Amino acid sequence: MSGWRRPPPSDPAEPIDTYRRLVANPLLAVATAVLAVLSLRLSLRWDNLYAFLASLGLLVGSFLLIQFHCLDCGATGWLLNRSRHRCPPAVTRWRSGRMDRWRPPAMSTQLAIWMQVVAALGALGLILFVLSR
Ligand SMILES: [Zn+2]
Repeated sequence: MSGWRRPPPSDPAEPIDTYRRLVANPLLAVATAVLAVLSLRLSLRWDNLYAFLASLGLLVGSFLLIQFHCLDCGATGWLLNRSRHRCPPAVTRWRSGRMDRWRPPAMSTQLAIWMQVVAALGALGLILFVLSR
């Protein structure tokens, strides 16, 4: 008799989300939002409605550019597609029902932290902009 035992089958109703190790990366979204704000300023200065609307669309759409990075396989993708990401290490953990010792915070927590950091930096930038005038 061999010592190898097949891991118990995982509950298919249990979500794999808790077994993935994904990190939010908002750098591209923040850079796009900054460019959109600069473009908004220029469009207002030039009195160009089309440039203003395009800049506004870019500002709203920049939130779709938030990315995730997988700590297991190194894959990077759009945050909206994170539910489709199932790499072998995560699936193995999900099937065995064992969590890794270190996991990043939940994606909603990461996004909340990033939003607070970006808001704080934006407020600081606004203060510096007002003080420099
Ligand atoms: Zn992965």
